Amino acid sequence: MCGFIGMVDEAPVAGRISTGLQTVQHRGQDSCGIYTFTGSRFPGHRGVGLVKDVFTRPIVEGLGGNVGLGHVRYPTIGKNVLADAQPFFERRPGVLMAHNGNLTNYEKLKQRLADRSIHLLSNCDVEPMLCTFAEELMGRRRRNHTADDVVSALRTTLQVCEGAFTAAMVLEVDGEPTLVAFRDPHGIRPGVLGRRGAAWIVASESVAADALGFELVGDLEPGQALFLRAGREPIVRDIEVRTSTPCVFESIYFSRPDSIADGDTVYEKRLQLGRHLARCWMAKGLEADRVIAVPDTSRPAAIAFAEEVGVPCREGFIKNRYSGRTFIMGTQEGRESALRLKLNLIRAEFEGQRVVIIDDSIVRGSTIRRLMDLVWAQGPRSVHVAIHAPPVLNPCYYGIDMSTEAELAARRYLPPGGSPEGGLDVMAQREFEAAWAADLGVDSLTFLSMPRMNKMYPPERRCAACFDGIYPLGLSAEQRQSIVNDRLCDRNESTVA
Ligand code: SF4
Repeated sequence: MCGFIGMVDEAPVAGRISTGLQTVQHRGQDSCGIYTFTGSRFPGHRGVGLVKDVFTRPIVEGLGGNVGLGHVRYPTIGKNVLADAQPFFERRPGVLMAHNGNLTNYEKLKQRLADRSIHLLSNCDVEPMLCTFAEELMGRRRRNHTADDVVSALRTTLQVCEGAFTAAMVLEVDGEPTLVAFRDPHGIRPGVLGRRGAAWIVASESVAADALGFELVGDLEPGQALFLRAGREPIVRDIEVRTSTPCVFESIYFSRPDSIADGDTVYEKRLQLGRHLARCWMAKGLEADRVIAVPDTSRPAAIAFAEEVGVPCREGFIKNRYSGRTFIMGTQEGRESALRLKLNLIRAEFEGQRVVIIDDSIVRGSTIRRLMDLVWAQGPRSVHVAIHAPPVLNPCYYGIDMSTEAELAARRYLPPGGSPEGGLDVMAQREFEAAWAADLGVDSLTFLSMPRMNKMYPPERRCAACFDGIYPLGLSAEQRQSIVNDRLCDRNESTVA
């Protein structure tokens, strides 16, 4: 998961890109970068760390150019090193590119480029996409590229580069500095378009447009490319359009609640998730005195859950917004201290109470386990856990950092026969939940059921593969293994480092 912003205007854009990147900082905190185009040069800066630390005033003011790209990175392929920070630049024909997502055939692309004597400088998967595009464009014409050249080169690039991504480029097209944005043919990763006067913005989330006073025009359409120039209407060209299947995990967990994605406000989606979850929970005949959200994502769902169940929603966990890294993680005591540094509990909200803890998802299972130890230490009468998503039973190969089956805690509690396509049916899910609740040491554990998820997100119009195992993009066993190997390799190297 990453975040990007592209902007074109009649005035320099770097300052606004830097401000806008801070609104999508939740999508990636490892590294960031901004590059612009002045018409003759591509000045830029990249650094490891947060936007507010990397982009000081002198750096931003030193970047001229009325068109540019910014990026915040969370690595799902490659590592947290400067060489992998985006945007990337290719000298011929002079083009910047940044993306949010994941290429599923990275190794094959790398080999395809190597066969053409093109070698990569990084492990970031936007680089082979950029090199492929640049080679295709230069193959059509060596200079004075037109929009038709770009569309034709992009068509080949999207046939060759498989995966889920929204991307933006800056280059000269028809003799003018141009911002080009495109979304993968299935529209799995999000992207929006906004306008303010002569200026255009494209971004991973609408909050970036809001913060900069842009009016939201709408989503970038799957498989389409937009050519954007200051003061002019966008040129819209189809590249490769297939069925739109946006990622449901964006509205469950990743996106900010104040964002609008694929026509819906994320906040409203989370309220709906809470209502549906409450019905799953009430169907078990359970009772509670209060509902407590694990901050921050699950707050809207907890509010709606409490309204539906008819008990108060209270604050029980207080998040420390200023906590940094801890250096005492080697022991159980150290891990608990680290968690409490981030999240402390209000004892009075738990002591003697029957509490329902609402969270957005359980992936690896270690945080919820440590959290329950802390909750029980406050003396509650009973503890119920309710999750406003179905169990994560399958890896994500489309840009979210959960790409191996082994890391998914839910798979330990699957009934014989493993993970069925379509997700667990209601009865199988009840048994699964009971087994996991016993192991977690809580009175009950409830996930959103697949039928309720399907009501909210119709199966033919979304990706929910991590819940139901139905992947909208075909993936060979070799591709899956290559993605898994890459993640395992990076984690091992990070651990050593
Ligand atoms: S597998 Fe899950 S996280 Fe990945 S794109 Fe699909 S819904 Fe999103």
